Amino acid sequence: MSFSELGLSDKLVRAVTELGYTVPTPIQRQAIPAVLGGGDLLAGAQTGTGKTAGFTLPLLQRLSGTAAAQAGNRRLPRALVLTPTRELAAQVEESVRDYGKYLPLRSMVMFGGVGINPQVDLLRKGVDIVVATPGRLLDHAGQRTIDLSNIEILVLDEADRMLDMGFIHDIRKVLALLPQKRQNLLFSATFSDEIRALADKLLDQPVSIEV
Ligand code: AMP
Repeated sequence: MSFSELGLSDKLVRAVTELGYTVPTPIQRQAIPAVLGGGDLLAGAQTGTGKTAGFTLPLLQRLSGTAAAQAGNRRLPRALVLTPTRELAAQVEESVRDYGKYLPLRSMVMFGGVGINPQVDLLRKGVDIVVATPGRLLDHAGQRTIDLSNIEILVLDEADRMLDMGFIHDIRKVLALLPQKRQNLLFSATFSDEIRALADKLLDQPVSIEV
């Protein structure tokens, strides 16, 4: 089974091949076709399984396959990835850049503890994909420096860690700012009652995968 057999475009296959990926990991074999199909996804996966490429590759393909429906010529974010920590946010955004290097999509990372102005400048210039920790994202939303009304795909990465870190209220606030109609992907290493409740609320008839 190859990346192109999973339905990924030549540009994405070229990018991962250059990174030395030859064979998709089990989570990628399951997640990539499911996400390309447009439905919601509930994935049980630990770090190190290749989960980041499992959601990033099909997310990039879906965004590149459809033109953005935008108000005027503003370029508003169409995909939002939430992570529990700055380190993970930075790592995921680097993967988005690496895998998307042959696509005309722009991404940015936003987290707290650093100045907000460079992030505001990037948002003003226009980005397609935002990788964020919940607190800083809500800061931007509160200051109206981000418009989340065009989000088509939401990813909660390491959702169990986000709940452990007390982000459930922030996540709820973010959800309230997103359009109703969107694709939702939830990745978690563990499944507590709290995660299941979040998944029930967030996901519509999800494909469930576990590796
Ligand atoms: P992750 O579980 O997303 O943190 O990925 C773990 C590591 O595996 C990262 O360093 C990736 O670059 C690498 N990786 C992901 N998918 C593949 C693949 N199909 N073949 C080889 N390495 C991969």
